[in-house]
Amino acid sequence: MNLKQPIIIFLFSLSLLLRVPSVLAGGPILVDTNDTGQAVLWQDGIVHYNLESGSEATLGTLSNAEAVALVKELFEDWQNVTLNGVSTTSITFVEGEPLGSIDTTNVNSHFTYCPPHKQCPLNQTTPFNRGSAETGESPILFDADGSMTDMLEGNGASQSILGFAGPRVIESVGGRLYITEGQAVLNGKFIDGIRNSGNPETDINAYKGAIIHELGHFIGLDHTQVNLASVVKYLSDDTSEKEGIPSMFPLYVDGQEQLSLHYDDKVAVSSLYPSAAFISSFCKLEGTVFRLDGTQELQGVNVVLQDISDPIVETTSAVSGALYAGSSNACDGNFGDYTLFGLIPGHQYTLSIEAIRPSFRGGSSIEPCDPPQAGFSAKILTGVFSCDSEGQVITTGTQDSPMIVTTKQVTALTTTSGGGCSLIQERF
Ligand SMILES: [Zn+2]
Repeated sequence: MNLKQPIIIFLFSLSLLLRVPSVLAGGPILVDTNDTGQAVLWQDGIVHYNLESGSEATLGTLSNAEAVALVKELFEDWQNVTLNGVSTTSITFVEGEPLGSIDTTNVNSHFTYCPPHKQCPLNQTTPFNRGSAETGESPILFDADGSMTDMLEGNGASQSILGFAGPRVIESVGGRLYITEGQAVLNGKFIDGIRNSGNPETDINAYKGAIIHELGHFIGLDHTQVNLASVVKYLSDDTSEKEGIPSMFPLYVDGQEQLSLHYDDKVAVSSLYPSAAFISSFCKLEGTVFRLDGTQELQGVNVVLQDISDPIVETTSAVSGALYAGSSNACDGNFGDYTLFGLIPGHQYTLSIEAIRPSFRGGSSIEPCDPPQAGFSAKILTGVFSCDSEGQVITTGTQDSPMIVTTKQVTALTTTSGGGCSLIQERF
């Protein structure tokens, strides 16, 4: 396939957290799979962060003040979400003490990283989990020239990774897990004004698309595969559906497009940190995905909801079995429930299922399955789905059958999930 440009992946560092909460899809990046099956979020929607500061804390050609302003501007984009004219999120960002200048000589005092395939120390001090920095900081680091990215991700990594971010510390409060620290590194090598074979360059507005993606991870969002077909078209030089590319797509495809939050991004953040108006003004659709026998449920199926009046822009998705409270081997958990949020009363939607792209693994994964669930066919369900009044909950039974039955047979599983966070260069 003819590529418009090299595809550069986003990476988030989650290997610290894989044992207790697991990586997750269709909205939250972490779920308490040991106990409640609930999304792990910042408590009460209050997100803490600390910014690198000082005249040396630049980001490519941006001064520290410009980089700081950019982060705050893009946090506001996640905060001021509206859907159909309704304000739908309830998030508060709290800036903590500035961090001073950070580079390769002192980054380890601020950033915690557990590379793939490396055994990281288990912190025994409850309620902190594995890999905790326990600094009380939630650092957002400006990697002026890519050197910190190379140090943390391996030599040469700064040529392909625009940034990486994610929650890093989870605490149990009253029996529920919450994110209490996050971290992010933004790679300024992409906006340093130098373009050659060893130094990629992107427009600052396009780079903002990378930052908003990483800040999405920072607040707890996962990747989404909505409009995969539009991305495939885009990479084949057909840009007619570029407005359909979500910010949280696992790849950096078109930074300018990904800078503006897609319907799916807005629904995802609103479902995790909802305003009262989001709950009261929109409907949700609940259902369950089954294997071919119609009895055993199936995890890891991407369920896609599309407004028939605007199927590329007004579309959202969820992955079945994402909120599974139990351990599964190679995603064989008998739990296929899903919930789709953000349906507008009176609108008509189609529902379809598809597999997550097999190459979306490791740092670009959409879980709960890594590798993705496979062995079933995509299909569009019969009929259209709609709700009449605000706040209604509908099921797939509204128009069709109460269950989605896939073509996947019940078979013995032979593979195990790899997990972890690994750097891969992804190409379609
Ligand atoms: Zn990402």
